[in-house]
Amino acid sequence: MQQKPVIGIVGGIGSGKSTVAREFSRLGCAVIDADQIAHSLLNNAGTKQQIKDHFGPDLLTPRGDVNRKQLAEIVFRDPEKLSLLNSILHPQVLGRCETLLRKYGHSSRFNGIVLDMPLLVEVGWHTKCDHIIFIACDQELRLERIRAKGPFSPRELKMRESFQISLDTKQLHADTTIHNTSDLSALAGQITEIFSKILNR
Ligand code: ATP
Repeated sequence: MQQKPVIGIVGGIGSGKSTVAREFSRLGCAVIDADQIAHSLLNNAGTKQQIKDHFGPDLLTPRGDVNRKQLAEIVFRDPEKLSLLNSILHPQVLGRCETLLRKYGHSSRFNGIVLDMPLLVEVGWHTKCDHIIFIACDQELRLERIRAKGPFSPRELKMRESFQISLDTKQLHADTTIHNTSDLSALAGQITEIFSKILNR
């Protein structure tokens, strides 16, 4: 029986999911980061071979690494290619998430487990959560924050979000909404408050 709360984080692209997950980690939670797991899987020889077989040898750099930027450009323009990539990665990513969930559930090091999974609801993992947090942040601010790190167009954002369920549907699954429209200390304050409420339930 899992004693510690499992907390799912949902929100739009660039809404602050990873930032919120980091705050929870500061408060003693284990974080399961599905994007990070997917990225590390792309370094596996077996996955690289599958990418090469299905997407062609051009997707590998001269060093033999998957060119993630090029792969993203291909799959976010073609639903069939995205499904193909998902069929390669999702079973492995979810398997790894499952293992970590069990491991962290048994570990006394953590007082909660946070699921930072962009497709949490789409893959049905919202059912594993005791509490779901939706991060609200308007598109303009999300773009501004993402663009501080590199170029990203409104079109790109819309296209990538078109492959996910709508933000309204994500919010419908949430127990709490956080407004990530102020600075990082305001966000941290909201997380501390919510986590204390979750633990005291
Ligand atoms: P993705 O959907 O791409 O995985 P995400 O939802 O995980 O994104 P983050 O990576 O946490 O979002 O945040 C996007 C960017 O916005 C990051 O550079 C982060 O540092 C910044 N950011 C998030 N929240 C705030 C805030 N309250 N104040 C300033 N910058 C912020």
